[in-house]
Amino acid sequence: MPHPFSDSYHDAVSALAYTLASRHAVGDPADGQAPFNDLTAFILRQRARLPDYLRGPMLAATLGFDLAGLARNGHRFHTQPPAVRRRQAEAWKNSKFGFARDLLRYYESLATLALYSREPSPVSAVPVAPPAPPANGVLVEPGRELRCEVAVVGSGPGGAITACLLAEAGRDVLLIEEGPFLPLHSCRSFSQQEMEQKYRNGGQTIAMGRTKVAYVEGCCVGGGSEINSGLYHRTPPEVLEHWRQEFQVAGLTEAELRPHFEACEREVSVSTLPGAAPAASLKLHEGAVRLGWKSLEAPRWFRYDTGGGGGGIRQTMTQTYLPRFLSAGGRLLPDARVDRLRKEGDQWLLRATHRAHGALEIRAPTVFLCAGAVQTPALLRRSGITRNIGDTLQLHPTVKVVARFPEPVNTLDMGVPVHQVKEFAPRLSFGCSISSPAYLALGMIDHPASAGEASRSWDRMANYYAMITAEARGSVRQLPGFQHALVRYPLTANDRRNLADGLHKLCEALLAAGAEALFPGLNHGPRLSSLDELRKLPTLLPEGLANLMTIHLFSSCPMGEDLARCAADSYGRLHGFDNLYIGDASLLCTAPGVNPQGSIMALARRNVLRFLKSG
Ligand SMILES: Cc1cc2nc3c(=O)[nH]c(=O)nc-3n(C[C@H](O)[C@H](O)[C@H](O)COP(=O)(O)OP(=O)(O)OC[C@H]3O[C@@H](n4cnc5c(N)ncnc54)[C@H](O)[C@@H]3O)c2cc1C
Repeated sequence: MPHPFSDSYHDAVSALAYTLASRHAVGDPADGQAPFNDLTAFILRQRARLPDYLRGPMLAATLGFDLAGLARNGHRFHTQPPAVRRRQAEAWKNSKFGFARDLLRYYESLATLALYSREPSPVSAVPVAPPAPPANGVLVEPGRELRCEVAVVGSGPGGAITACLLAEAGRDVLLIEEGPFLPLHSCRSFSQQEMEQKYRNGGQTIAMGRTKVAYVEGCCVGGGSEINSGLYHRTPPEVLEHWRQEFQVAGLTEAELRPHFEACEREVSVSTLPGAAPAASLKLHEGAVRLGWKSLEAPRWFRYDTGGGGGGIRQTMTQTYLPRFLSAGGRLLPDARVDRLRKEGDQWLLRATHRAHGALEIRAPTVFLCAGAVQTPALLRRSGITRNIGDTLQLHPTVKVVARFPEPVNTLDMGVPVHQVKEFAPRLSFGCSISSPAYLALGMIDHPASAGEASRSWDRMANYYAMITAEARGSVRQLPGFQHALVRYPLTANDRRNLADGLHKLCEALLAAGAEALFPGLNHGPRLSSLDELRKLPTLLPEGLANLMTIHLFSSCPMGEDLARCAADSYGRLHGFDNLYIGDASLLCTAPGVNPQGSIMALARRNVLRFLKSG
């Protein structure tokens, strides 16, 4: 239903989209010229996807921004001539008030993403889709009541492996997934369309704190595996040892986990590139090697073409465990969100909402919660289960830098860079990230004087990141009256120091690799082109002025026998509950310091096999 301010909101958003996009339109047709109605339409769609507790404040702040024009010039923002609008937008962007900067940054990010997503895409970037998984077992018209022996909530790496092994062992399994069931190639990877189709809240999720950390999660059948880069690591042995000692986790030696790592690696085809890595990835490697730093190629879950064309298929859950699950007789219920669960006699009763068919109930004696590091604690807390739940969320805070080189390093079909610098791990890790023109333009938002660079020089530019293993502990909470979970994450001063150190060292490696200009992800940060200029970087990341993000979340319901700090036992059973298990990233006791999916898969496999063995 349209809200009472929808026309005013639309006018303000449209004026913002035109104002923010027009400065990129410098005459090159590839920059994208007005009209920018497609940008406005995208922003309006994204507003509807915002977490529900942010929609009202966002509406109020946008209308406030529009009305602020009255105070400045006697006219609302959207009725002003373009030059006056630009001045107001700049003033808010540079405001000393965080909420004003955040508002403008939000709209500029969306407008920029949509503008640069108009770039033509090469046909080779979209490999031929493999046959869809068998439709047998996928519930489209689920009815009002369902029963099963084991209900698995969430179909990401944790849930897909759990459900698959249970079904293959002959259990009657229902796998419930909030997101839609889409083929892997329903859209281009890392595109605006993918964000709209497969990301939770359209990718607009934020861990709140004095320095906010933007994070993203998958919300589709296959979860994060469908949208991620596929970079694989085993859990480092010293991390396993720390978990064993500090959290009293049984059965977690390297030798005990090895068979699970090996099985998962086989089943998702973990392998290194058959040919040369992308040039931007090699640049970071070269820079690190010149400085004498350890740098490696991370393997990926990927099945490469044997034809030598360099193509292949990422081995996501919809390519691997989920077809196996359906073939073994498992039932998959997509588009259904589990709202709450409670015990009723010897059964768990799950109340869910189906996108098309509304409320439904699922009864099962055993439940595995695999909804991810934010949604699993949120569901438990909504259900009144709170002990050690959602109090210790961890993530890998990440800061980015855009580098420009004198020679080409980027192509439209570059794909996923694979090199990671591990010299300072686990404290710091560096890598190269997705560097499409749209992602480069997003990285340049902090450098308005160079806004057109991503359009002019994208083939000589790439995005790089410095990721830290942080000491901060965040929380996941459910606000009364709202559906979406509130995540808070208070970075510590040490974390901000490590991020600053990481950014500095990453810039050093990129300069050693021959970068001619660096654009760090700091609000109005310096443009750097020599080692001397690195002195301009802060030694402690300023609060509220660094643009941080993460794609790695975990540790919100840690496993172990230490009842004072653990939510679940060593094998994922919730302390104090029968037949209620967790099987996802929430269980990791602390941040692993490496890409986490390898750890999640191995633990899920270990835990479900133990469950099957015990009865
Ligand atoms: C862009 C991106 C890139 C990444 N790159 C890498 C990488 O290269 N290597 C790596 O190791 N890791 C990577 N990750 C992280 C990795 O994808 C996650 O750690 C992993 O997917 C987590 O697995 P999970 O099973 O715990 O949860 P998820 O994958 O988040 O799956 C949980 C599923 O549960 C569903 N769900 C949630 N709540 C409910 C509910 N109430 N009812 C029903 N269903 C629900 C969700 O929709 C989701 O599909 C990346 C992540 C992202 C977002």
